[in-house]
Amino acid sequence: MRVLVIEDEADMARYLCDGLRLAEYEVFHCNDAASGLFQAQHTKWDVMIVDRMLPDEQDGLQIIRALRNNQNKTPVLVLSALASLDERVKGLREGGDDYLTKPFAFPELLARLEALTRRTLSIAETSRTINIADLSIDLSTRRVERAGQTINLQPREFRLLEYLARNQNQVVTRTMLLESVWDFHFDPGTNVIDVQISRLRTKIDKGYSPPLLHTVRGAGYKFGIDG
Ligand code: CA
Repeated sequence: MRVLVIEDEADMARYLCDGLRLAEYEVFHCNDAASGLFQAQHTKWDVMIVDRMLPDEQDGLQIIRALRNNQNKTPVLVLSALASLDERVKGLREGGDDYLTKPFAFPELLARLEALTRRTLSIAETSRTINIADLSIDLSTRRVERAGQTINLQPREFRLLEYLARNQNQVVTRTMLLESVWDFHFDPGTNVIDVQISRLRTKIDKGYSPPLLHTVRGAGYKFGIDG
């Protein structure tokens, strides 16, 4: 999970970043509104934590407003010392997804972040279909079709296909596959990948055009219309 923290007070920022890293978040920190907005707009985050009172009399809510005007729907937790009911309502009305007042207990912050990311993940997953040429992969029902015909995949084959499709047009190395599809953090030294790739290729490419699963000699594999 990648989280962007926009917070100007150094102690609070350190407390947040250290705690989030301990909870295995990938954390990036900005200490003013301008750099925060830039990062928010130019990088994809799973969730953001935005302080309200920022330097140069900027209000974190302005960042959220700018993002929402730009159709950026990344979930935002507003973190603020402004604790009155009016301020909290304002924070949510301006596009914040949740509002936590300082001081706060870290477990509560983590629980709220989990709730926010769970919500967006489930929305994204229920409507997610990956289409490449005439292949369609429905990530919620795990139904795979090519040229309108259902293709039955074993769970591991589906995981492999999903990983390749999510990284389409990029070279995927054997190490990446071992770690992401098999959860191996070492090379088992077997031909497990070759066997699965070959099975998957037979199921999704054989008899169809164009081929989608390509071998990149000496590097790994690539999934997409162009080899
Ligand atoms: Ca502040």
